[in-house]
Amino acid sequence: MRVLKKSSFYQITFMNHLFPINCYVYEEEDSLTLIDIGTKRFTKHVLSLSKNLNKPVTRLVLTHPHRDHVAGLDYFCSSNQNPIDTFITKRDNYLLEGCFDLLDNETGPKIKGSSVKTSHKPNHFVSEGDKIGSLEVIMTPGHTPGSLSLLDRSNKVLIVGDLVQVQGGLSVAGDTRWLFPFVTMGTWSLSKCIETVEKILNYDFDYLCCGHGDVLENPKPQLERVLVRAKSKVREV
Ligand SMILES: [Zn+2]
Repeated sequence: MRVLKKSSFYQITFMNHLFPINCYVYEEEDSLTLIDIGTKRFTKHVLSLSKNLNKPVTRLVLTHPHRDHVAGLDYFCSSNQNPIDTFITKRDNYLLEGCFDLLDNETGPKIKGSSVKTSHKPNHFVSEGDKIGSLEVIMTPGHTPGSLSLLDRSNKVLIVGDLVQVQGGLSVAGDTRWLFPFVTMGTWSLSKCIETVEKILNYDFDYLCCGHGDVLENPKPQLERVLVRAKSKVREV
């Protein structure tokens, strides 16, 4: 595991060379917010960070409920001594409950990937503009229909889950990077991801944090470039 501090957050990385996974710990004045918990191996490191900072983990946000972002949920919640509020979008909670069907008002390809059955259930369904501590929820559909991102406006940090990947080469989810094809293999709709990356480019951020790969600083010029590449790949009906 690797723990890196940047700006107001920590990136914790499970350093598997085939399938590295990030979760993030966001530091508030008196508490911590954990973002994603992809394997139970993260628990020890999140809790020791909590101990070192002398701040409890009181919030857990799921950017989307694919296995590599929620598999450690039950283990973490049973190990954490503090009551915790858990946040997800209402749309993606269906995936966490095992239903990967499109809803009546949705069109597009099949939803991909898999989740895990958890005993710990999210107790808050969030939508655009909701605040979780100092983080603001931005709805960023594409990788899954109900994926969310988190924006810290004062420190200009944006955490996007798997809307983009950095591992294997920066790309919009759905635009395959062969050195790390797994994000695309789990992506619902490339065209939705493209629309959503266009949306996030309207926000002001200097740090881009995703589920797989390093934190990108000053990411906008690179994002503009991969957006062009992704648009050339759209083949969906
Ligand atoms: Zn992922």
